[in-house]
Amino acid sequence: MPREAILRGDELEEDQTTLSLRPQRLSDFIGQTQIKEQLRLYMEAARARGDVLDHILLHGPPGLGKTTLALIIAAEMGVNIKISSGPAIERPGDLAAIVTSLNHGDVLFIDEIHRLRRNVEELLYPAMEDFKLDLVIGEGPHAQSIRLDLPKFTLIGATTRTGLLTNPLRDRFEVVFHLDFYDESELKEIVRRGAQILGVKITDEGAHEIARRARGTPRVANRLLKRVRDFAQVKKKPVIDREIAREALAMLQIDEEGLDELDRRILRTIIEKFDGGPVGLETLSAALSEEKDTLSEVYEPYLLKKGFIQRTPQGRVATERAYKHLGIALNRAPEAPLL
Ligand code: ADP
Repeated sequence: MPREAILRGDELEEDQTTLSLRPQRLSDFIGQTQIKEQLRLYMEAARARGDVLDHILLHGPPGLGKTTLALIIAAEMGVNIKISSGPAIERPGDLAAIVTSLNHGDVLFIDEIHRLRRNVEELLYPAMEDFKLDLVIGEGPHAQSIRLDLPKFTLIGATTRTGLLTNPLRDRFEVVFHLDFYDESELKEIVRRGAQILGVKITDEGAHEIARRARGTPRVANRLLKRVRDFAQVKKKPVIDREIAREALAMLQIDEEGLDELDRRILRTIIEKFDGGPVGLETLSAALSEEKDTLSEVYEPYLLKKGFIQRTPQGRVATERAYKHLGIALNRAPEAPLL
């Protein structure tokens, strides 16, 4: 994995070998307390009624545990799960093949559900609402539409922001959960748990050092842990302590705020090329030669949360904090831009 990709919350190839770090049960899932409490309640109620769980929409930045939660829900309900994603379901027939293979009570997980094609999405409405599938068979004047009964199932949709969904789709989810960034103590627990599973020793300070630079994201915490473990191994250190963690993270060019090369490049570009902003996403992505979606879905949420940038109707603005962090003098009054 290129070094600059290590702090990205979205899934990279390397993460697929991290599957063992994925919590299997709700009791192993760290943080997101309110979501867990509500989920427990809904699952218990559905079980008691002998009913199928309502459709659930999970939204939040990548790497916060949406797929993990879907897998856990299926495991806790004792049902099968089928996993797909918006872009993977290309034609109505693809969706038909998936939903007709479900059993009563099964979970269908659709990641990046906002990227479903329109004609596929429209097929999903009656499937979600009435568990019916409207299919058109044949073409031209002989085309016939038929309505199939589907087993009752639970759709779990995942997306980075609910705003990306169409209203009719969003309205068909009975339960909507927003996953927010994790705090340091939760990330520390995730690092400790990961270390235990990987069989590496880590001190409290070592775990803290990794946690505070993990961008509030469990996937990043696990990734950093593995990198630090490799570093410790090469340096023949049997325990990951504060010093080793710091050395490893410095080598990866991850700074005290958990920012990597690209984060700093984003800030520097806004400040130096666009005079601190406002600059539109399109222009910024061209100036950085980075994809727009990567900037807005992967990088921006954390920079916004940390107060390094602000979103205004005119575009992105670097805050005083960003200038300070990069050690660049602010040549204008901090209140001057459209903050
Ligand atoms: P998303 O679907 O939101 O992109 P994932 O569910 O794939 O995120 O989670 C990414 C990784 O982070 C998982 O493989 C898992 O190991 C870890 N993870 C996520 N949430 C938690 C959590 N609450 N506790 C422990 N580990 C977690």
